[in-house]
Amino acid sequence: MKSKISSGKYTYALLFLLIVLGIYAIMKETDTDTAIESFAPKADRILILDAGHGGDDGGASSASGLRESEVNLDIVLRMREICRLLAVPVLLTRDSEELPYPANTVSLSSRKLWDTRKRVDMINEQPNAMLLSVHQNCYPGQEPRGPQIFYSENPDSVEKAHQIQFYMTKNLYPANRRVAAPMPDGLYIPEHIQCPAILCECGFLSNPEEAKALATEEYRIKIAVILMAAYLNPTEETI
Ligand SMILES: [Zn+2]
Repeated sequence: MKSKISSGKYTYALLFLLIVLGIYAIMKETDTDTAIESFAPKADRILILDAGHGGDDGGASSASGLRESEVNLDIVLRMREICRLLAVPVLLTRDSEELPYPANTVSLSSRKLWDTRKRVDMINEQPNAMLLSVHQNCYPGQEPRGPQIFYSENPDSVEKAHQIQFYMTKNLYPANRRVAAPMPDGLYIPEHIQCPAILCECGFLSNPEEAKALATEEYRIKIAVILMAAYLNPTEETI
C-alpha cells in the first residue's frame, strides 16, 4: 500500500515537472531570451479562469456527444494545478459541472442568468484581475478548425490575446490564419466586468479531427500548458 502511494506521488511530481518543462520550452521557442528570465508571474494580478457553460448549459457538443462544458472545465482545472505549482494567484468561476442553482430558479434562462450574474459579481470583486474564459467553438460545417482568441476593449487584453493566439496557433495548428479579434457583441460577462478579459475558443467540436483531439487528456494538458505559458510570459511582439 505504502509503495503504491509513493509511486502515485512520484507520477504526479513527474507530470508537474513535465508541465513546467513544457511551459519553459514553449516560452523559449516562441520568444526572446528575456522572457525566460521573467518566468515568475506578476504577483499582484489574479488570474480568473472561467470554464464556459456548466450546469444545465452544456454549450456546444461534438458529433459523438462530447460536451463543451466538460472540456472547458477539464482544461481550466489543469490550468489551476499549474497555477498552484507556480504560486500564481488564481480563482475559478466554477470548479464543477454541477452548479448550486437556488430553488427559485427553475427555467433554463433564469438559471443561466443567475449563474452569469454570480460570475460577474465574483470577477468584479477582484481589484486587479485578468479574466481568461475557456470555450470550444462550433460551426455548421465540419471544416473550420483551430484556435480563435477574442479580447475586450482594454490594452492589456488586446496585447495578451494576440500573444495567446500566437502561442496557440504555433503549437496546436500552424496552418491557422486567424488573428485575435475584438470580443463579439452581446456577451454578458465581458460587457459587465471591469478587468481585462480574453475569450479562448480553443478548437472546433464540429471538426471531427479536432473533436477527437479535444477528447484526449494529452491535448487538454497541451492546451492548459500553452495558455499558461502565454499568460505568464511578458507580452512580446507576436503579431
Ligand atoms: Zn462556449
